[in-house]
Amino acid sequence: MVLHLPSDALDILRELNAAGYAAYAVGGCVRDALMGREPKDVDICTSATPEEMKRVFAASHVVETGLKHGTLTVVRRHVPYEVTTFRLDGGYTDHRHPDSVRFVSDVREDLARRDFTVNAMAWNPEEGLVDAFGGQADLAAGLLRCVGDPVTRFTEDALRVMRALRFAAVYGFRIEDKTAEAARKMAPGILEVAAERVRVELAKLLCGPHAGDILRAYADIITLLIPELKPCLGFDQRNPHHRYDVWEHTVRAVENAPATETLRLTMLLHDAGKPETFTVDEDGVGHFYGHAKRSGEIAERVAERFRLDNATRDRVLLLVRHHDDFLHSEPKQMLRELNRVGEEAVRQLIEVRRADALATGTVDPAEVSAVCGALLRALEDTLASQACFSLKQLAVSGRDLIAAGMRPGPALGDTLEALLQAVMDGRVENDREKLLEMAKQRIADTARA
Ligand code: ATP
Ligand code: MG
Repeated sequence: MVLHLPSDALDILRELNAAGYAAYAVGGCVRDALMGREPKDVDICTSATPEEMKRVFAASHVVETGLKHGTLTVVRRHVPYEVTTFRLDGGYTDHRHPDSVRFVSDVREDLARRDFTVNAMAWNPEEGLVDAFGGQADLAAGLLRCVGDPVTRFTEDALRVMRALRFAAVYGFRIEDKTAEAARKMAPGILEVAAERVRVELAKLLCGPHAGDILRAYADIITLLIPELKPCLGFDQRNPHHRYDVWEHTVRAVENAPATETLRLTMLLHDAGKPETFTVDEDGVGHFYGHAKRSGEIAERVAERFRLDNATRDRVLLLVRHHDDFLHSEPKQMLRELNRVGEEAVRQLIEVRRADALATGTVDPAEVSAVCGALLRALEDTLASQACFSLKQLAVSGRDLIAAGMRPGPALGDTLEALLQAVMDGRVENDREKLLEMAKQRIADTARA
C-alpha cells in the first residue's frame, strides 16, 4: 500500500533506515492519508533513541524540544517533523501524565499506547501499513474505538474522552458502544485535566462538520464541562418565534455559524442565560428579557474556566452580549456600530445574527439570507465610502491638539472623542483645520463653564 506523504517525510524515514533504525509515519497522518485527506503534519516514530537520532540528523536543522520524552523535531523546508522514539507510557497516577516513559524497540508496543485504533497505525514504504488493532477496518466502518480496554484508557488520561468527541465531530465517526459507554462513565476525569488542553479539544470539536450531532448525543459530557448549559436541555421557550427548545436551538446555531472557535463558542453560549431570565406574559408567551447580558456573565465564567486568551475571551463576550441587538443597514447606524465594536466584530455580529435566525426554525432561510446580505452590503458601502468611524481615521490626532496648545490628559481624549462623534453625526467635516477650530472652541467653552 502506498500512502502519499511529503517527500521530506519520506527522506527522513530513509535516512533513519540507512543508519539501521526502523522508522514509520504514524498516528494522525496515516489516518488522514488513508481517508484521502491531506495530513496536517507528519509525525514519525523510530527505534532510534534520542541520542541516536541526534547523530542521524547531525547535519540537519533540528529542534530539541522534547528530547526527554524521546522527541526530536527535524525541520525540512521550514516544515517541522516530530521524530519520536518508540515508547511505552508508564503508569498514570494523576490521570493526566504518564509517570515515566520507557523506550522500546518494537513499533507495535508504541502503537499500543495510542488512544484510538484509527490513530494507532504506522506506515513506511517497505513494510506498508502496520495495523495491529484493526484501525483500517474501523476507519472503513467510520468507528472510533479505544485501543485496549476503554475504561482503563480513559482512566489513564481523561483528555481522551474529549479527543473521542473531537474526532467524532471532525470526521463523522460513530463512537463504538463500549468506548462511548466508558467515555460517559469516565467523563468527570476531564475536570482534572489542564484547562488549556481541554480548550483545544473543545474548540476542534465545535468546529467539526459534525459538531451538532456530537453536542446532541453527548450533551451530558458537554454540560459536565459547562454546567451552566444544563438548564437549556429541553427548555421549552413557549414563544412563536422559536420552534425548538433552548438546547436544540443552541446546537443549530452552532451548526449554522462559520467554523471558528470564537463564533462557535459564541453560539454555544449565546442563550445560556435564557432559562434564568424566563418569564411568561398574560397570553402565555415566553420572554427572556435581559438574557443576552446574563449569557454574557455566564460566558465570562466559562472563558475563565477554559483559560481563553484575552483576545478570544473579549470577542466572545462582546458577541454574546450583543447577539440580540438590532443591526441596522442605514449608513449612519452602520457607522455607529463600526465605531462601537470595529469592522471585524460587525462582520461577526452579522454571522451571529444569521446563525441565530436560521436556528429558530420559524423564519424562511431566504429571508435571513436577504437581511444578512443587506447588512453586509451596507457594511461594505460604509467602508468603501471611507467615512470616519475611528480615532485612527480622524484628521487630527492628540499630537496635533498638543501642538495647538492643549495639555495632555484625559480632557484631550474627551475632546478627540467629541470631534469623532461630531464627524460621524455630520456636524463637521473630517478636515484638519475645521477640527482644530472646533477643538479650540470646545476648550474655550469648557473654560467658561
Ligand atoms: P490532528 O490531525 O488533529 O493533529 P492527531 O491524531 O495527529 O490529530 P495529535 O494530538 O497530533 O492528534 O496526536 C498525534 C498522535 O499521538 C495521535 O494520532 C495518537 O496516536 C497519539 N496521541 C495523542 N494524544 C494522545 C493521548 N492523549 N493518548 C494517547 N495517544 C495520544
Ligand atoms: Mg497531529
